[in-house]
Amino acid sequence: MLHEAGIPVHDVPFVSVGGGLGSFIMTDVLRICGVPTSSIKVLSNSDTPWQTWEYLTRASQLPPGERIRSDAGARPDNIWGFPSYAVHEAWQDRSPKLLWQVLVEPILTDFFSPRAATVFATVKREADRISYWDMLAKGQVRMVRRRAGGGYFTLLTPPAGTAPTKRVAIRSQYVHLAVGYPGLKFLEDLQRFRETYDDYHRVVNAYEPHEHVYESLKKRPGTVVVRGAGIVASRVLQRLMDDRERYGLHTQIVHMFRTFVTGPHGSGPWMRRPGGDGWAYQAFTFPKSAFGGQLKAQFRRLEGEKRAALAKAVGGTTTPKLRRWQEQMRQGRQGNWYHPIQAVVDKVEPAPDGRLVSHTSSNDGGYGRYVSDFIIDCTGLEADMPEHRVLADLLEHGGARRNGAGRLAVGENFEVTGTASGGGALYASGAAVAGNHFPAVDSFLGMQTAALDIAADLARRGFCADLGPARSFGQWLKWVTGRPV
Ligand SMILES: Cc1cc2nc3c(=O)[nH]c(=O)nc-3n(C[C@H](O)[C@H](O)[C@H](O)COP(=O)(O)OP(=O)(O)OC[C@H]3O[C@@H](n4cnc5c(N)ncnc54)[C@H](O)[C@@H]3O)c2cc1C
Repeated sequence: MLHEAGIPVHDVPFVSVGGGLGSFIMTDVLRICGVPTSSIKVLSNSDTPWQTWEYLTRASQLPPGERIRSDAGARPDNIWGFPSYAVHEAWQDRSPKLLWQVLVEPILTDFFSPRAATVFATVKREADRISYWDMLAKGQVRMVRRRAGGGYFTLLTPPAGTAPTKRVAIRSQYVHLAVGYPGLKFLEDLQRFRETYDDYHRVVNAYEPHEHVYESLKKRPGTVVVRGAGIVASRVLQRLMDDRERYGLHTQIVHMFRTFVTGPHGSGPWMRRPGGDGWAYQAFTFPKSAFGGQLKAQFRRLEGEKRAALAKAVGGTTTPKLRRWQEQMRQGRQGNWYHPIQAVVDKVEPAPDGRLVSHTSSNDGGYGRYVSDFIIDCTGLEADMPEHRVLADLLEHGGARRNGAGRLAVGENFEVTGTASGGGALYASGAAVAGNHFPAVDSFLGMQTAALDIAADLARRGFCADLGPARSFGQWLKWVTGRPV
């Protein structure tokens, strides 16, 4: 069929689709395991591995100079996690204070987190070191299909004018998918409002650029409704509060929580999580042991409903309890300009003066009506999985199946269940495989765990070397001294 359609076929043993942090980490591990650049292609519509992440963090109020959520050891550029980001920044800033912070965190200080800019810079350095740029091929991936003779065809549309044909096919034995978030998820009532009134100015999603909201508040006092209780809601609130302080603004903030957490919650003495003032507090997206401790092991052992129940107990929307931001909220409540409320929004309508009216109902049966200049939806990023074309095609034609959480079902080595093709294998990591045996898979550390498990499977199949202690130590020495793999 490819021949008849005039689509040229190129041979590369290993293809990674996405070209974000997941693909970067996968290729980093494979290069460390001795795979040459000629055996790997990364197919991506992004110029750099950090492009999408930079866009999303910037929009959601984490500009390069701000500190992200993960800890000092979660380094996408360094599979050993040593020396940590705290050591890196302490050296760079000539600031022993940061070393003191990791020593006494989280008891005497907040957890150390690196700046977003540190992540960009260190990933760039590692990309140079492993010759990432030689493996990158730009374009939009259309589909991944099994070949009759084993392995896969990946169909790519290169950027216009860069190739003699509109499409090219890559024939490979192995494919890795890391396509990130399928899209933005909007709250239903807000999406309805935006479509009905064609208003994309006053109702915004925190993951899309919405700088105009903050600019407008600088020119004229206004009221903002913030919806959501996760890390992005806390970032947006902090921006509103910082601006208030810095520019002497009079912004009023109405913060709507669907579930209003009033105190510590959870079951038993070991599964409790602090909370209060509406928020559930947790330093990282999952408890630390879900990344590499007993919770990780427990998830692997459990299946079906028991695994789902554990996921429900340890997952959910949380945010880190940071001292400065807590103080700002306290001042806001005292000064009567920050109004946290429990509310479910029934509908949003335009007011006669063009502002927004949110009609709400609360758990105690009360109704409310809140007029605001803007609404910022901080509730979610991922749209439904079939919204991603490649994943939808895999479900329809590639033998892939959904797990209980609606994502791709994968085995313990992250091979997508039902997609084996002859001696070939198709793997996936990141958001597309949440809800399987490893809850933290959509994080820097999670991506590294997945990449190491995939590489171990590929070593078993003879594609790369095992990452034993000698290779690992030798490669770490190369990493520290900045020598090529
Ligand atoms: C605001 C924010 C903050 C975060 N903070 C942290 C943190 O502090 N610590 C942490 O561990 N994790 C954090 N994460 C999670 C982390 O960003 C993800 O785990 C990681 O980026 C996932 O990597 P990925 O490769 O799956 O997706 P991405 O990095 O999003 O990359 C996917 C890439 O695939 C490309 N693509 C998709 N479809 C196609 C196609 N058909 N053809 C070609 N290219 C395609 C996209 O353009 C994109 O470049 C954060 C996420 C967000 C959104």
